[in-house]
Amino acid sequence: MFKVILLILAILLVYWFFWGQRKKNPADSSADKSAPASPEKMVICAHCQLHVPESECVMADGRHYCSDEHARLGQS
Ligand SMILES: [Zn+2]
Repeated sequence: MFKVILLILAILLVYWFFWGQRKKNPADSSADKSAPASPEKMVICAHCQLHVPESECVMADGRHYCSDEHARLGQS
């Protein structure tokens, strides 16, 4: 009887392990899909005209810059 319980536990453990892995993988791929699904607004650096995501740009004097360095140098 003990062997049967052990076998069921082993099957449950394996099943739980694979189910957990299968559950994890679609979450990873959906995270990858969500990035292009919500494209970030691109802004142009006023100094070098480089396109940078708005969240990564530096704002100075109402203009967008790609870096603190270019914000300091100002518009070219
Ligand atoms: Zn720049």
